[in-house]
Amino acid sequence: MIIQLKNSVSLEQANKLASENQSFCIQLDDKILLISGSGVKSVPQDLESFTDKFWVFANDIQLASKAFNPAKRKITLANVEIGGDTKNTLLIGGPCSVESEEQIRSSAELLKSLGLTTLRGGCYKPRTSPYSFQGMGLDGLKLLAKMREDYGLNVITEARDATHIEEIIDYTDVIQVGAKAMYDQGILRACAKTSKPVLIKRGFGTTLQEFVQAAEFVLSGGNPNVILCERGLRTFETGTRFTLDLCGVAWLQEYTNLPIVLDPSHAMGYAYGVPVLARACVAMGIDGLLIEAHPNPKVAKSDASQQLDHAQFSDLLQSLRPVAESVGYKMV
Ligand code: PEP
Ligand code: MN
Repeated sequence: MIIQLKNSVSLEQANKLASENQSFCIQLDDKILLISGSGVKSVPQDLESFTDKFWVFANDIQLASKAFNPAKRKITLANVEIGGDTKNTLLIGGPCSVESEEQIRSSAELLKSLGLTTLRGGCYKPRTSPYSFQGMGLDGLKLLAKMREDYGLNVITEARDATHIEEIIDYTDVIQVGAKAMYDQGILRACAKTSKPVLIKRGFGTTLQEFVQAAEFVLSGGNPNVILCERGLRTFETGTRFTLDLCGVAWLQEYTNLPIVLDPSHAMGYAYGVPVLARACVAMGIDGLLIEAHPNPKVAKSDASQQLDHAQFSDLLQSLRPVAESVGYKMV
């Protein structure tokens, strides 16, 4: 249940009421809310006189639900906004991993030359083998910060586990919570305490309910700036790396108020399929698209087979513009 308190209730009083009622207390826009589990179906007696409005839910998708707020949340980054009524589809580009200054500078220059704003690059990589490249760590974060400074780009990078989450929060503009990390409570709880945008990727074996509940951890802790990212599920199919759940995207659009980013690169796993899949994604009217691109994919230290080269990335952007326009969006 979500209870919106009357304007006369102070934050201090609200926090006290929340602890007496095992609820979260957050400020959202100019309102103070108390949030408890969806098992609570009526306003507790001691809260009745403080209650302005309340919402009852069938399950624990509450703050993220259209039933609570049908308006899509707006997320503001430097030079660009997504969600709300912006109808922007943000193209996030860059390599799987930050590998060297030369490499990430080449990616930053590409984005800048195309008029794009947001550079990705992993520094702490959640690899499936301990013998694979694990990322540059803090040195990589410093390179991303340099690119932000030199090119005025937003940067997005992923947290692998809670040991370095504070570093990630300090250095990045958008915190990426990876598919394997989305159950990490340490990461989610730390993300709840910052106001920086958080892009949560859906685990490859995660139901939509569990996925949005991960977002609820961040939202109920007080950070409203959450973006959902579908990046493919593991199915019986082995021809492609994963199976992009576009049905799930339609479900998220119907029932949640959070901006949605799609990642065809990790879903497909092979560069040949990324452009056509990306166009299908943009045709759904989405808030963002995450595409891996590398100056020389053949020598990439992670996800080499799925990364576009820079010419392919530029061509893709041109081909996406009319698709976005056909559904009332624009590529930014
Ligand atoms: C990535 O974005 O490079 C990544 C590791 O993604 P995922 O968490 O979706 O596997
Ligand atoms: Mn990758």
